[in-house]
Amino acid sequence: MAEILVLVDHTDGVVRKPTLELLTLARRLGEPSAVFLGRDADSATEALGRYGAHKVYVVDAPEVDELLVTPAVDALTQIAENTGPAAILLPSNPDGKETAARVALRLESGLITDAVDIVAGEGDPVTEQSAFAATYQVTAHVTRGIPVITVKPNAAAPKPAPVTPETEKWDVTFGPASAAAKVLSRSPRERGDRPELTEADVVVSGGRGVNGAENFAVIERVADTLGAAVGASRAAVDAGWYPHSHQVGQTGTQVSPQLYLAAGISGAIQHRAGMQTSKTIVAVNKDQDAPIFELADYGVVGDLFQVLPQLVEEIERRRS
Ligand code: FAD
Repeated sequence: MAEILVLVDHTDGVVRKPTLELLTLARRLGEPSAVFLGRDADSATEALGRYGAHKVYVVDAPEVDELLVTPAVDALTQIAENTGPAAILLPSNPDGKETAARVALRLESGLITDAVDIVAGEGDPVTEQSAFAATYQVTAHVTRGIPVITVKPNAAAPKPAPVTPETEKWDVTFGPASAAAKVLSRSPRERGDRPELTEADVVVSGGRGVNGAENFAVIERVADTLGAAVGASRAAVDAGWYPHSHQVGQTGTQVSPQLYLAAGISGAIQHRAGMQTSKTIVAVNKDQDAPIFELADYGVVGDLFQVLPQLVEEIERRRS
């Protein structure tokens, strides 16, 4: 069966959800092999096997911690040149996309970024992308070399398919370009107990209608009731009500959760660009003509300060 390489995204050996989604998608195309860079492969191997990784290529070298994306580029390129996979899948985060572009260039292969779905085509994998704020749905496949594809988080629900993976250590030769920039320190972003914005199954976002930093407590309350991440429109961020790291949209973060709840957000095209691939969209807006309702699966015309507390109350009532 064709081998599909999947670059593992992890923190100290804890495999992140987008990698489990990639392994789930990779199984549609062939037999997934995970490429793990770092010291904690042992703790990651079990999780990778649980989601169908038949092989785990381990690259454990100091360069992996000390340098930026180039060790992953060197590793993926060298492994791909030796094993000849049918495709290489990476997460659509900034590091994943930079790595993908460099790997594709070195392998003289075609590159597809930000896929929201992948299926096995007659030859190469066929991807779906959402372009120009969901104005177009693009179906594409690579016509040259080994397809290198980045996939957005939440493109697929991770489904287990347990196997016992074979582990293979790789001695990668790091090129001189790898040492051009070094990591001086890493500091994880503080976000409390809430899930990471791009990985969350549910995102609750507030906009200008929230009308003040202190009122974001209403959004946070809904988010915590649903186990969701908090997002914000640029209007709310520019007003200083919520940090830029939570901005959803063209110049913020792109999210694709199972459920996106937009409260007090009009639905400008630049905001849509960051959330239109969400599976279900719910909007709360007091203006019945707000453009967000064109996009929403469910809409509530009303004042968010009345609607959202009632929503929390109802969820809690049903849970008790
Ligand atoms: P508004 O458009 O002002 O809408 C507020 C909404 O809240 C209204 O529909 C109103 O009816 C409703 N409302 C008010 N009070 C209540 C209430 N009590 N209850 C319920 N509803 C209420 N925007 C982004 O979001 N993300 C981006 O990444 C982004 N990038 C941009 C890049 C460029 C180059 C440019 C030019 C713009 C960008 N924008 C971005 C800005 C975008 O054009 C909009 O200005 C912005 O999205 C508007 O935010 P909003 O919907 O919160 O505010």
